[in-house]
Amino acid sequence: MKPARFDYHRASTTLEAVALIDDLGEEAKFIAGGQSLVPMMNFRLARPSALIDIMHIGDLDSIQRDGDALVVGALTRHRTLETSTDPTLMGGFALLPTAARWIGHTPIRTRGTIGGSLMHADASAEWCMMARLFNAQLRLEGPRGRRTVAADDWFQGMFSTAADFNELLVEIRFTTPRQCGALAEFSRRHGDFATAAVAVAFDVVDDRLCNVGIVIGGVEGVPVRAGEAETLLEGASVGAVDVDGAARSAAAGVAPMESEPREAAYRRHLVDTLTRRAIHDALATGVQ
Ligand SMILES: Cc1cc2nc3c(=O)[nH]c(=O)nc-3n(C[C@H](O)[C@H](O)[C@H](O)COP(=O)(O)OP(=O)(O)OC[C@H]3O[C@@H](n4cnc5c(N)ncnc54)[C@H](O)[C@@H]3O)c2cc1C
Repeated sequence: MKPARFDYHRASTTLEAVALIDDLGEEAKFIAGGQSLVPMMNFRLARPSALIDIMHIGDLDSIQRDGDALVVGALTRHRTLETSTDPTLMGGFALLPTAARWIGHTPIRTRGTIGGSLMHADASAEWCMMARLFNAQLRLEGPRGRRTVAADDWFQGMFSTAADFNELLVEIRFTTPRQCGALAEFSRRHGDFATAAVAVAFDVVDDRLCNVGIVIGGVEGVPVRAGEAETLLEGASVGAVDVDGAARSAAAGVAPMESEPREAAYRRHLVDTLTRRAIHDALATGVQ
């Protein structure tokens, strides 16, 4: 199918984009890489009256270091992050290029942007999981100025975020680098969104795990932290990590979207397996 009729506008600055959408109203939408929005328009799941093309706002395509934080412009493409492996830039965030590799196929990664993914807010999207894992701060520009939302407050429900219709996501600041990390996913076909995914990251200090983060994607309507499993691993000696206990706790803690008991049990089983795998991978290889 082809999309319904729409007007096209092109913004070359953040201010222009915000002014345009504020003027055009809620029926208008920003378009970045178009890798989620265009399929939705083709299926008539979205019928924006106007599109505001933001891909020509030059200064939002960047990856920079600001002390411990990694600051990524919202228009940075998946592929740029996938190929950003310089340790002086990515130190503590080496899981990000690894995560990017799981996104769809190369053409999708070449067009799609990190900001578009976080705005689309699919619960199994890799950037949504990484935002929670690395305690991202998301910066929005709107008609009333600038504000920042923590990743923990960003996801309001399935495909729903804390951003207002007339706010442009401009920057994602990953604040918490970690020495070790891994992402384990299961999907039926290569390139599909994950049926379930688990990301794990931690530091190792004096042979003990600390700053443990575990994020589960694709199981609930938003990416969730496995708080009890994190607590279980915090302070554990590297040689005596209770991987079984953490995996069981992560699986028990999720509330799968499925109402049918066998399907819910299947998702829990995936969480258990993927949590084990992610912890083992993070312990065995680290990512630094
Ligand atoms: C076949 C296929 C497989 C895929 N597999 C995966 C996968 O495995 N994992 C995964 O994570 N993703 C996957 N994707 C989605 C892909 O990652 C998209 O690129 C991403 O979700 C959206 O980014 P975009 O730049 O294309 O945004 P667009 O499609 O242009 O926009 C998406 C939404 O965000 C809004 N928006 C975009 N940018 C901004 C901004 N800066 N500020 C405010 N609003 C904005 C738009 O208005 C729209 O509502 C897949 C897509 C396809 C087609």
